[in-house]
Order: sequence, then structure tokens, then C-alpha cells
Amino acid sequence: MVRVTIMAVDDDQAVLNSVERDLRQKYGRDYRIIKADSGAAALDAVRQLKQRDDTVALFVVDQRMPHMTGIQFLEEAIQFFPDARKVLLTAYADTEAAINAINKAGLDYYLMKPWDPPEEHLYPVLDGLLDEWRANVRLPFEGIRVVGTMWSPSCHDLKDFLVRHSIPYMWLDIERDTQACQLMEAAAISKLKVPALFFPDGSVLVQPTLQQVAEKTGLSTRAGKPVYDVIIVGAGPAGLSAAVYASFDGLKVLLIERQAPGGQAGNSPKIENFLGFPSGIAGRDLTRRAVTQARRFGTEMLTTQAVTRIRSEGNTKIVTLTDGSEVSAKIVLIATGAWFRTLKLDGVERWNGAGLYYGAAHTEAANYQDHDIVVVGAGNAAAQAILFLSKYARQVTVLMRGAEPHWSQYLDLAIRADEKVRVLCHAELIEMRGDDKLSEVVIENKESGAVAALPAAAVFVFIGQKPQSDFVADLVLRTESGHILTGLDLVKDGKRPPNWPLDRDPLLLETSVPGIFAAGDVRNGTKHGVAAATGDGDAAVSLFWQYLSTI
Ligand SMILES: Cc1cc2nc3c(=O)[nH]c(=O)nc-3n(C[C@H](O)[C@H](O)[C@H](O)COP(=O)(O)OP(=O)(O)OC[C@H]3O[C@@H](n4cnc5c(N)ncnc54)[C@H](O)[C@@H]3O)c2cc1C
Repeated sequence: MVRVTIMAVDDDQAVLNSVERDLRQKYGRDYRIIKADSGAAALDAVRQLKQRDDTVALFVVDQRMPHMTGIQFLEEAIQFFPDARKVLLTAYADTEAAINAINKAGLDYYLMKPWDPPEEHLYPVLDGLLDEWRANVRLPFEGIRVVGTMWSPSCHDLKDFLVRHSIPYMWLDIERDTQACQLMEAAAISKLKVPALFFPDGSVLVQPTLQQVAEKTGLSTRAGKPVYDVIIVGAGPAGLSAAVYASFDGLKVLLIERQAPGGQAGNSPKIENFLGFPSGIAGRDLTRRAVTQARRFGTEMLTTQAVTRIRSEGNTKIVTLTDGSEVSAKIVLIATGAWFRTLKLDGVERWNGAGLYYGAAHTEAANYQDHDIVVVGAGNAAAQAILFLSKYARQVTVLMRGAEPHWSQYLDLAIRADEKVRVLCHAELIEMRGDDKLSEVVIENKESGAVAALPAAAVFVFIGQKPQSDFVADLVLRTESGHILTGLDLVKDGKRPPNWPLDRDPLLLETSVPGIFAAGDVRNGTKHGVAAATGDGDAAVSLFWQYLSTI
């Protein structure tokens, strides 16, 4: 493991020594701990570390220092180490300054002094931040090297898969990196055969399926048992939350995910409105934490397997997977969420994953450094993507059909303040053009009828969503839009749904088939969002117990 630095900064020598002692005690084996007694001295150290090509993982900095406050120091230091996590040590009176610094200096956390005992107040916070840092940063230490091209949909899917599973990899672009060509030549692989994965053990996978990658990297793709208490379909926030609570309660849980865990939330660069994360949390960090938690309580998880069918035979539910295998359980929870509607444009599929992305701002943003890009959409997911993409792109042009966006006021203020973003209302994308790469888009103003072409290297689409419930269309009752009906939605004028076999109403999240439940965005009537989905997942588990007591 590469040794990276944790830096403590405080002008009060006694406090500085005790921060250093606590840091060294817990992290001294894996990190280099250095300390500085002023902002100026700390900045000197930061410059030296940068010159030596070292890396800083974490700054723990006192706010109240003469000449330079902690926040002023962090604003300077992040120019050198933008990925480092930043913790401010504060007194009660500094709370407001700390909250302001969340936006200004990208502060990750503020800790009130004193933090004794560190096992309770310091280490849990720093453990989380260091885990996040390790999951997001690319260290010289290499796991898998992925050789590919950014114009290939399968390369895009592979990167997304690795990111969502927190599998460290180094991306080498065959068109730009000499190391990529060297690796391919040495293994006698044609440059056209991308993606190619080079593993530390010397083995290579050429144009693999995601299932092959999952197997090679030690992820489960087949169920370990024939029967479970609960099968959860979909590992977005609703499915993960149900998995955590159900396995915590001692139920035998199988969680099945067709791609990689995280669902839509896994694509969110920053979830700002989830309780307990005042500085926001990246969707993939939330996912990583939830997956670890579910596994810790005993959830078994399958990836790269979609559920293609569910059937109910008495009190047994049988689930069929893509590979044709079957698993059964007493209960099934459908937590398959929703996904973006696709653009209705002739021939648009040729750009999929190669300039046209649905909800994928997070994985692709860095590839469009200094390019002009277009975002289509006017909701919160689009807004988050716009702000994230604008960190990289030269200009972000936003196309929305209506006269006004639907995103939250908080995001609206940030978008208006962003000089790289321009919003075009009543605008519709009517054509995408390019040779092998996307180079421009054609836009029509629906009010004036004016048509114009714009340079664009990529288009990110966030338009309306479709619930992922077609695979149970012949099993459970749904709305016309495809949302699954549950609980009292199924009882009309005091009448239970047709073929309902029991002498009780369906439970709150139960579908029109007893023992099959639905949670999250796929369910009719839910408020879409991470909190609502995780709440549904939790509520579902107490209903599982009610159901189990009746069979
Ligand atoms: C870019 C983006 C940003 C967002 N930002 C925010 C935010 O800041 N705050 C907020 O509250 N909400 C946000 N949302 C919305 C939020 O992410 C969703 O409401 C939430 O993820 C819904 O959770 P879910 O578990 O119901 O479904 P999903 O997250 O959609 O997860 C469903 C999972 O089921 C899997 N699946 C589907 N069909 C099958 C099948 N047949 N077999 C196996 N697996 C299957 C899918 O692959 C997916 O992983 C955002 C959404 C997006 C796209």
C-alpha cells in the first residue's frame, strides 16, 4: 500500500500534540502523520509534499488560528490536493463559519473540540472519510488496468460496473496513453479488441462480459442456497435498505442486482438531501457503505443477474434469473426502481455510451475536460449532473422543454451562479451529428421554431423515468405508467383485488400477490428520492414479519 499523508494543523501546541497522538495511534501504521503549528507552516509543507509527488488523504485543521484561519488554509490547500478530505476543528461559536465552509472550501466535516473519547467522536468520522478517499482516488498502486476507448459503450459499462463495485482500476485510453498500446502489444491483442483488463496476477480478459468480470473479481453471480427467507430484487437504496434491516433481524436474505449496486442513487455525484450528511454524500459512497453494512449482517448478494420472472406457488415464491437458474423464498421484495426514458430520435442508438449517456455524469465527466457538452432535462438529477459536469467541461448547455426548471431552489442558485452553464428553455434536441465521434447537436426552439447547431462532444440525458416493472407485468397489478400498486391502492370501494386469496387486506407495501412486496421508485405513490426509498425498504421489513406470522 502506498503511504499517504494525514496532516494536522493547530496553533495550540497542546491540542496539536493530542490530535497528532490520536491520529498516530489509529492511523500511524498506514499513513504518514505530519503536523504544523500555523497555516503558513502547513502550506509550506503542502507545497513540499506536492513537489515530492506525495499525496495527502486528510487535513484535520483548527479553525481559530492567528494570521490564517483553518478555512483560509483549506481554501489554499485544496488547490494542491483537491481530493483530500477536510475536517475542521471548531468551537461552538464557529459553527456558522464551518457550515459556510461546506460550500466554499468543500469541507467534509466539522468536529467540536474536545473529541474525547476518540473511539467515539473522532475515529468513526475519520474512518468514513478515509474509506471514501481511498475509494475515489487513484493511487500509483494499481489494481486492474483497463485499456479501452471512451467512444465504446462496452468500455463505458465496464467502468461504471467497476466504479459501482468500488473495484480500483486504472483507465488507459488506447488513443492517448502509450502504456495502453504497450500493454496491448505485449499481450498480442489487437487494438480493436477493447476493453481489455490486465490483472495484477498477469491474467488478461479481452472484451469480457460483466459476468466474467464479476467472477474474476470475486463477486457472486450464483446463489449459494436454493431457498431464502427473503429475495430482494434490485440493489438501489430501497433494496439495500431492506437487505440491511432484514438481515439485521436475522432473516436469510438474497439480494439480486442486474448490474451493480446503487441504482439511480449510485449515479448521483452528490446527494445533498440525505439526513445526516450535511456536506452531501456521493451516491457511490453511500452505496459502498450500504453494501458493506448489508454484507456484515449476512446478506448474500448476486450481481450481473437480472430477475426475468417471478411466480408464486402457494407460500413459495420462485424467482428466475437471466442464466435460467431458479431460487425460491417465502417473501420477494421488488425494488427495481426506475430508469431514464430514452431519446426518441432516429438512429440515436449509435451514440449510446459513446457520447450519449443516460444518468451517467459521474463516470464520464472527467473524459469531457474542456469540451462543450449538453444536458437534456430540468429536474434535480439533471441539476446535479450540470453542476458536476461543469467542473470539467468548457461549457454546459442545458436544454429544457418548458419555460422553467423543476429543480430545487438550492440547486437553482448554484446553477445560476455557474458561469460555465447556460440554460435554453423551450429547447428540444432534434439531431446528433458526427463522424466516429459526436461533434455537434441540432436544437429547435419550440416557441420560435428557430433551428441551430451547437458544438457538443457529449449529451447527458435526464428526461422522465420509467418504472422497471415489465418483468412482473403478468404477475402483479400496476398503473398504466407501470408503477406497482400496493396496500390500500389495491382496495377499491371496499373490494380487494381480483384473485386475492386471503381474508385480509393487502399489507401496506404488499402487491396484489400475497408475500410479494414492492418498495422505492417502482411502487405507485412513493415520493421519489433516496430517503423515501430507504424508508420504504425499512418499512417493508416490519411487514415481512407480519406476513411471516400468517403463513
Ligand atoms: C443522477 C441522479 C441523481 C439523483 N440525486 C438524488 C438526490 O440528490 N436526492 C434524492 O433524494 N434522490 C436523488 N435521485 C433519485 C434517487 O436516486 C432515486 O429516487 C432512488 O435511487 C430510488 O431508489 P430505488 O431503490 O427505488 O430504485 P433504483 O435506485 O432505481 O434502484 C433499482 C435497482 O434495481 C435494479 N434492477 C432493475 N430491474 C432489475 C431486475 N429485473 N433484476 C435485478 N435488478 C434489477 C437496477 O439495476 C437498480 O440497481 C437521483 C437520481 C439520479 C438518477
